[in-house]
Amino acid sequence: IFTSSSAMVKAIRVHEHGGPEVLKWEDVEIGDPKDGEIRVRNKAIGLNFIDVYFRKGVYKAAAMPFIPGMEAVGVVMAVGPGLTGRQVGDVVAYAGFPMGAYSEEQILPAEKVVPVPSNIDPTVAASVMLKGMTAQYLVRRCFKVERGHTVLVHAAAGGVGSLLCQWANALGAIVIGTVSTKEKAMQAKEDGCHHVIISKEESFAERVTEITSGQGVEVVYDSVGKDTFEGSLACLKTRGHMVSFGQASGAPDPIPLSALGVKSLYLTRPSLMQYTGTRDELLEAAGEVFGNISAGILRVRVNHKYPLSQAAQAHLDLESRKTTGSVVLIPDG
Ligand code: NDP
Repeated sequence: IFTSSSAMVKAIRVHEHGGPEVLKWEDVEIGDPKDGEIRVRNKAIGLNFIDVYFRKGVYKAAAMPFIPGMEAVGVVMAVGPGLTGRQVGDVVAYAGFPMGAYSEEQILPAEKVVPVPSNIDPTVAASVMLKGMTAQYLVRRCFKVERGHTVLVHAAAGGVGSLLCQWANALGAIVIGTVSTKEKAMQAKEDGCHHVIISKEESFAERVTEITSGQGVEVVYDSVGKDTFEGSLACLKTRGHMVSFGQASGAPDPIPLSALGVKSLYLTRPSLMQYTGTRDELLEAAGEVFGNISAGILRVRVNHKYPLSQAAQAHLDLESRKTTGSVVLIPDG
């Protein structure tokens, strides 16, 4: 068992909620790993829309200042006293809590990390831990997509959206995606969307009605929220499933329960944390994601890389809908 004393590292910190400018590049002391913990030197950090919610204060961090970031791959630099099963030099990945990935190094509970298969590039792994496991639980557990289902995926060219469309297609579903531009539509098609709707040019609810000959879809995966929620409900067939898993455009307006009664709809607001809460769930979800990458079922689009110090620019681009696929921050980039 090896432990080394920690030095100062560079990290992005947030002292007050606000725009991308509140992301400050600072020297921080991260300390030594305690019982059950490891210290990891990050190689690649995944950027996620949830980082924007925390930066803005839509979701609240436990304390201020805080280091954002919930997805990274790195090399184990030190292990806490008495810890077995992890060694210095292991390449590991994590997604979720604790926050703190926007840092050259971070302390993590060993039980929260998974080993990265040697055939998967660390940058790729850092792009699919949070986004890929989200796609996994959405199509395999939250609502089980089966051959012959028709599914609607909003933000189909985004980080989660790209993986979700590929996975739903591989399960045999007819996939309808919405995007904001023609360029994004091309990517969504490549990712297995049978139909792509450019939501700025046409009403997605009307188009879905046309495409499905008035039948509607079995499930809507809606990460856009405010702008799409009502239209998404309209797209569902009788006893369809509304999966509201994000709010890129803002929180959806409240609806009366009776709005579900019209078609006996199911509504869920799931979170990755509740689907990877146990060690077994985490290993199974990560295992399926890595397995599908190795098998060529999932193509991971690492479309944007920024130096970690430029995280503010990366946030700006993600929020202004300029990015597609996964965005990664590179600590020594
Ligand atoms: P994306 O790469 O998908 O980026 C967000 C996309 O949302 C944009 O590219 C844009 O695509 C679309 N969008 C629509 N309206 C807006 C708006 N007003 N402002 C900004 N974007 C908008 O991000 P991620 O892959 O990181 O995350 C996707 C969603 O999934 C997020 O809402 C996130 O919170 C959610 N999520 C939820 C999880 C859960 O377990 N509940 C876990 C992981 C992610 P376009 O221009 O094509 O419309």
